[in-house]
Amino acid sequence: MNKQELEKIKQKALEKHIPIIMDDTLEVIERYLKEEKPERILEIGTAVGYSAICFTEFLSENGSIDTIERDVERVKEAKENIKKAEVEDKINIFEGDAVEILPTINKKYDAVFIDAAKGKYPFFLKEALRMIKPNGIIFADNILYKGYVLSDYNKHKQRTAVRNLREYIKEVSENPNLDTEILEVGDGLAISRIM
Ligand code: SAH
Ligand code: MG
Repeated sequence: MNKQELEKIKQKALEKHIPIIMDDTLEVIERYLKEEKPERILEIGTAVGYSAICFTEFLSENGSIDTIERDVERVKEAKENIKKAEVEDKINIFEGDAVEILPTINKKYDAVFIDAAKGKYPFFLKEALRMIKPNGIIFADNILYKGYVLSDYNKHKQRTAVRNLREYIKEVSENPNLDTEILEVGDGLAISRIM
């Protein structure tokens, strides 16, 4: 991978206020995935490809990443970035709404990274559980959403997002097949290991 290009991609995304993965969140995921050496990763929410490009470093030798993005402009930029970073052979982008695309995928993944519409997290979880391999890990970014999720916050237009993020936490916590931690890194990260 071309690290110099990766740094440029990161700076440009930050300047344009694209919500890329935060450094401390990436460090935690790195700690998990460096050991696992996943062969296949599924990402929901590509944006401009920054996190997917970072994740290529953790893949096993012939590993690959499938990532989904619905914003046409971002897909275009992600493709350019993936090329610049020299990881085209490792990342496959599905263009469109993950709500429609996920049910059409029938592959197995070692890790899933959920990082898209917060109101859809329970649905993304259901699809991730269908496709995750035994002993795989599901990460969900922005799970604490600026602290709203664990506070008594229930006004405002973000209400649906907050309700669905709470529902996600409840489901992963109550599922007897999952071992879950909720970390306060970045905007909150849920890590669920399939047992
Ligand atoms: N993972 C990226 C950041 C993703 S930001 C990184 O860390 O670099 C979230 C992205 O999810 C946005 O680009 C948004 O367009 C996309 N998104 C939101 N809801 C989606 C959906 N239902 N289907 C596909 N993409 C979605
Ligand atoms: Mg995020």
